[in-house]
Amino acid sequence: MTKTAIIRCEKNENRCPLTNCFKCMVEQKEGFARYDDCMPAGVFTCRCPGDNAVELAKIIKSKGAEVIHFCTCTFARKGDRGWSEKEGGFCDTLDALITRIHQETGLPCVKGSAHLPKDYSPQIWE
Ligand code: SF4
Ligand code: SF4
Repeated sequence: MTKTAIIRCEKNENRCPLTNCFKCMVEQKEGFARYDDCMPAGVFTCRCPGDNAVELAKIIKSKGAEVIHFCTCTFARKGDRGWSEKEGGFCDTLDALITRIHQETGLPCVKGSAHLPKDYSPQIWE
């Protein structure tokens, strides 16, 4: 049972209640397909310019999370042909943010959650 946390972006916090993120987590699909079983370990919201994110991630770790996923909408957006990375998502600095969080917490970090873009394999910092 992998204790799995999510960090979301403030730009989407009033539009999406993480419905598909949680669905994929409990069904071990899309960004969570690598786990045999998942238990939600918590959710936090990153706020621009992301200065709060490392502290949030440390709290997530202290609560027992074993891995942190970053929502797909932070790096991809939905178009006529489904979700795509081409035009980016809500965050222009996501890779740097994930790198910092991974370095500071030592937790594996996964870029992706629900509805992954076609042909995208989740990038993992571990
Ligand atoms: S990845 Fe999808 S389900 Fe998850 S928060 Fe973003 S829009 Fe919502
Ligand atoms: S730093 Fe990136 S992930 Fe964090 S709130 Fe800003 S745009 Fe969203």
